[in-house]
Amino acid sequence: MPVQRNRLKNLSIDGTKRVLLAAPRGYCAGVDRAVIAVEKALENYGAPVYVRKQIVHNIHVVTTLEKKGAIFVDEVDEVPEGSHIVFSAHGVSPAVVKGAADRQLQAIDATCPLVTKVHREAVRFARDDFEILLIGHHGHEEVEGTMGHAPERTTLVNSPADVPNITVKNPDHLVWLSQTTLSVDETMETVRLLRERFPNLQDPPSDDICYATQNRQVAIKKVAEEAELVIVVGSANSSNTVRLVDVALENGARAAYRVDYASEIKQEWLDGVATIGVTSGASVPEMLVQEVLDDLADAGYTDVAQVVTAEEDLMFSLPKELRTDAAGNPDERGLGGRSRKLDWQRDSA
Ligand code: SF4
Repeated sequence: MPVQRNRLKNLSIDGTKRVLLAAPRGYCAGVDRAVIAVEKALENYGAPVYVRKQIVHNIHVVTTLEKKGAIFVDEVDEVPEGSHIVFSAHGVSPAVVKGAADRQLQAIDATCPLVTKVHREAVRFARDDFEILLIGHHGHEEVEGTMGHAPERTTLVNSPADVPNITVKNPDHLVWLSQTTLSVDETMETVRLLRERFPNLQDPPSDDICYATQNRQVAIKKVAEEAELVIVVGSANSSNTVRLVDVALENGARAAYRVDYASEIKQEWLDGVATIGVTSGASVPEMLVQEVLDDLADAGYTDVAQVVTAEEDLMFSLPKELRTDAAGNPDERGLGGRSRKLDWQRDSA
């Protein structure tokens, strides 16, 4: 999308205009790894490389990879036999893996390791005869992938409102798991309601809501306490992005909006606003946040302070097929999605 500058007017307000920039924000380790996986697959095997579903839920990332030769498909039966296919960061069910194998596709699994952890929990609890109450959003790819690992034993709990209608076979052999990108507070409320109905409900061995989702929510909570307006950069189908809007509104922001691009910011959002909070979802490149800051600067919001609530240094190894370059030499990115600090960490160092 072309950058159109000086769109926003610098109107006077009571008070000092400023921006509070939440940190952590933007790319998480799982997204970074998945995006690099597609880039490396293109380098090693040449275009086209097929990708099942959006590799991560961000329209800018997807269109950028399409320009480099990635072809995004909904299902493996759209891919020519023998081609390379990358499974997205949100994970796939065993049925999808089998479907790819049946077509002799060369599969590269970019499922985030923290999603794989939930898959393993589902398999283990199903094997131990538990019923699984999976808290997550109906139709989300991650939920479909996790349910596919224990389809006979998993019931989806879409929201707290679902709880009264849940039926189970044995209320004493129940465990809850969750999608990795939910609102922590809403999920805990759902669990509280579930436990009222099923007192012997077992917790997962560790948090399923991932570190990146939690860290971004903590940071925007802090920012929202002081911001009249919060702008969240990210795509509409990005669960963790949409949750950041909810969390901002629940924690003090008078208004909160999601934008894919800076060009979507409306002049009227800024009416009478002194403090604007800015953050971005876990699949958002920092350049899109920078474009928002540039536009806000045009509108007089030049005073930018970063609100840092956590440091992040997690890195994941690339999928094993991609740990070397095309000539078979080890790739410097092979032992971690990113060998450098994230942009907000560099800025705050
Ligand atoms: S948001 Fe969490 S689970 Fe999803 S890719 Fe990032 S680190 Fe992995």
